[in-house]
Amino acid sequence: MEAVHQSPHVLIFPFPAQGHVNSMLKLAELLALASLRVTFLNSEYNHESLVRRTDILSRFAQYPGFKFETIPDGLSQDHPRVGAAMRDMFGSLELITKPIFKQMLFEINPPPDCIIGDGILGLTIDVANELGIPIIPFRTTSAGCIWVFSSIFDMIQAGELPIKGNQDMDCLITSVAGMETFLRFRDLPSFCKVSDVKDPLLQLMARETSKNFKANGLILNTFEELEGATLSQMRTKCPKIYTIGPLHEHLKARLADTNQTMSDRSSNSFREDDRSCISWLDKQPKGSVVYVSFGSIAVLPREKLMEFWFGLVHSGKRFLWVLRPENVPRNDGECDVVPTELVEGTKERGYIVDWAPQEDVLAHGAIGGFLTHSGWNSTLESVTAGVPMICWPCFADQQLNSRFVEEVWKLGLDMKDVCDRRVVEQMVNDLMVAKREEILKSATEFAKLAKGSVNAGGSSNCNFDCLIEDIRMMIKNC
Ligand code: UDP
Repeated sequence: MEAVHQSPHVLIFPFPAQGHVNSMLKLAELLALASLRVTFLNSEYNHESLVRRTDILSRFAQYPGFKFETIPDGLSQDHPRVGAAMRDMFGSLELITKPIFKQMLFEINPPPDCIIGDGILGLTIDVANELGIPIIPFRTTSAGCIWVFSSIFDMIQAGELPIKGNQDMDCLITSVAGMETFLRFRDLPSFCKVSDVKDPLLQLMARETSKNFKANGLILNTFEELEGATLSQMRTKCPKIYTIGPLHEHLKARLADTNQTMSDRSSNSFREDDRSCISWLDKQPKGSVVYVSFGSIAVLPREKLMEFWFGLVHSGKRFLWVLRPENVPRNDGECDVVPTELVEGTKERGYIVDWAPQEDVLAHGAIGGFLTHSGWNSTLESVTAGVPMICWPCFADQQLNSRFVEEVWKLGLDMKDVCDRRVVEQMVNDLMVAKREEILKSATEFAKLAKGSVNAGGSSNCNFDCLIEDIRMMIKNC
């Protein structure tokens, strides 16, 4: 076996947001388990949160050759870094972080042999190409989403973008290869629903995705059995795609091979996990609870939150709800903070936390369904746990993920574009009772496939071995 100091040195740079850092830390640990040297580059802001709330420093100290480095994200300390304000990050990273990153690459010792940059962060590709360092982008979204982004110019050419004012949103899109039978205008990622095709974010998504296809390969947090049809389309443009997900399950499997478990470690959350919800779940009947979370970024207006709250209480089902402090309804002077009916209904059948240990929650036997915003990490975590979903997508790739969940994988119900207490109540009852059996059948099947893909001989497990091999070869050939 080669000594650690002779093994390739990989620098990992995630986009500074919870879902990105979470999955890329898992990738970093998989690489460290494969005896690669890893430098993980975090934004200063996020690193401070992680160090304060998690065990990352002691956890990664066990890997010789593993290092954390930090870099400014270019935003002020008091910037909210949630909701629509997250968009500011794209500009600040390009303007402020990029030159610092370039300088850092001259100074890092030992210099990285290869960079795995978040594929949404085109700056990593630009700088790596300029300095002649091999780069493999990692995208934290589904293959489906990347395929749609890579088809933006085709949609423009076909006259399907920009979406016309009088467009029937339920019409099918014709210009995304392989998705002609199910992709509606309604399901396009939010970045695509703009009135001007010169929109900076639309252009950024199209540009960065085409850069991803021209790099030394592309790593995805998905698995062949889930997205095989889309991956075949993608490989016509980008032959070297490493599907190595679901990453959280993959890490669990590889740690088990070294007799380690996930149970004695913290999550990778910027916020403190409230584990009291696990004790609450322990007291609930099997499969009886709907878990509700809108992820780490979405900020919901009060009226919408109230529709969900009434719907959940009126459904009569038990629920565990992650209400981040930014989402808690406040007294706006005109209405009460929370009507008594909701307070009482929640006391009887509900439990609310600021932040939950989501992977443990989804794996808990009391959970019967997940009302989710369809972020890709949440979707994959739910697929792996075999938990049926109600999807209420907010932005970015979420609109597309929810379409796949309902129409392609038959793993749940898509509630997009509707926020009405009666619909919430109806969907919760459909998921937990009326349509439960058929959805659970697919959910159980896909959970089995997800776990199989990361075990020895499984598709993601083999693809990860290929990735390691290719990184080693890439360096030998440099
Ligand atoms: N998450 C968590 N606890 C919560 C809510 C979310 O640990 O209470 C984690 C979740 O497991 C997932 C990530 O935060 O890994 C959210 O990523 P996702 O891609 O689903 O959505 P985003 O936050 O990027 O919108």
